[in-house]
Amino acid sequence: MAEKITPRNVDYSRWYTDVVLQAKLADYSPVKGAMVIRPNGYAIWEMIQQNLDRMFKETGHVNAYFPLLIPESFMRKEAEHVEGFSPECAIVTIGGGQELEERLYIRPTSETIIWSMYKKWIMSYRDLPILINQWANVMRWELRTRLFLRTSEFLWQEGHTAHAAYQEAEEEALKILKIYKTFAEEYLAIPVIAGKKSEAEKFAGALHTYSIEAMMQDRKALQAGTSHNLGQNFAKAFDVKFQDKDGKLQYVWATSWGVSTRLVGALIMTHADDNGLVLPPKIAQRQIVIVPIWRGEEEKKQVLAYANEVKETLGKEFTVILDDRDQYKPGYKFAEWELQGIPVRLEIGPKDVAKNGMVMVRRDLMKKEFIPKNGVLETVRGTLERMQKEMLENARKFQQEYTHIVDDYKEFKKTIEEEGGFVKSHWCANPECEAKIKDDTKATIRNIPFDREEEKGKCIICGSESEGRVIFAKAY
Ligand SMILES: [Zn+2]
Repeated sequence: MAEKITPRNVDYSRWYTDVVLQAKLADYSPVKGAMVIRPNGYAIWEMIQQNLDRMFKETGHVNAYFPLLIPESFMRKEAEHVEGFSPECAIVTIGGGQELEERLYIRPTSETIIWSMYKKWIMSYRDLPILINQWANVMRWELRTRLFLRTSEFLWQEGHTAHAAYQEAEEEALKILKIYKTFAEEYLAIPVIAGKKSEAEKFAGALHTYSIEAMMQDRKALQAGTSHNLGQNFAKAFDVKFQDKDGKLQYVWATSWGVSTRLVGALIMTHADDNGLVLPPKIAQRQIVIVPIWRGEEEKKQVLAYANEVKETLGKEFTVILDDRDQYKPGYKFAEWELQGIPVRLEIGPKDVAKNGMVMVRRDLMKKEFIPKNGVLETVRGTLERMQKEMLENARKFQQEYTHIVDDYKEFKKTIEEEGGFVKSHWCANPECEAKIKDDTKATIRNIPFDREEEKGKCIICGSESEGRVIFAKAY
């Protein structure tokens, strides 16, 4: 290990960058704002991709691929959409050495190109629904960037579905949000609040936007996934109509939804510690590392033979690294695998061999425990399952600890400023009150939680009637 990671309590932002760089998850690219995803980081993305892809397919979705370049005229067809995205778009003006007749946008998202195709593909109600997802890169020209959290080019999936009725589109948008929540909690061990975005915070061109919101260790919020009911806006912009069962022409209803490589940033900021990354077992491509400890050739032979047996047993179910490198000391190896977040480490020395066991260390707890070799597969399986569950529970406890119920605006400002976290307060649904809070404190409405209690109250700004509390926080 080259350098030490800056501790979180010294400089949180520096800590995050140290973890990303030193765990070799990503690196800065020659083009400012873009990032190189290194194999350790890409392995996490692959796990996110594989699991979500399976969940999408289980719910009837299929994958397709649309081009990177979008004609400028397409972007202009949906007024809110172009207004929302134009400032952060990169545009191609020259191709093959010649100025292009029509400028081409590098996709910031693909609604427009996809709906231009749906116009060709949708004629009748029999052609619906279309449930297409695409795994792709997109580009948004961000000025202030941060590895994984905000980069000008990033990887994501974008689902784009077409339906015959409003209700179907609404159900689809909510079904996907549920998949995102399940995935975030069961795989990433990140507890999230699912809810609806306010009008001011919704997606450019959507009827409703739904989101899942997570809390990072610095108590700032991070939007971890969004799902939009787009209504008929894109169908109208691209003139996509279908003949319904009664032979009448109607505009098609749409949704779009996405999660991105940002989730890798969320994973780091939720679980990593001052020793580096901590991976939930279900998202680790390699779950176990065995570090053999020996002195001299005789011990080496004996310990390695034993360690190989253990590796073989565990290899039936898990991916196991046996770190038998000669040139490094055990302490160095421990630190290196801790940095990379491998969930379980097994240490095997001559004394362990004599006692027919080994030392096990769970990455999140860092406590040593002697376990017998007999039944090691069951022991480690149980440990990984507990670790997965407890990582979620611990993150949830943290989120609850920093969720405040506040009814007074002075206290609201103080809480946002000094404590951070989620603040649950009443809001009258007026965008002006929302804007004032944002101006005063930089906190935004993260969402209106689905599971909020029905509770009458008074808006924290204007005192008008409110139907319930919404979640305010400073966000990434
Ligand atoms: Zn108000």
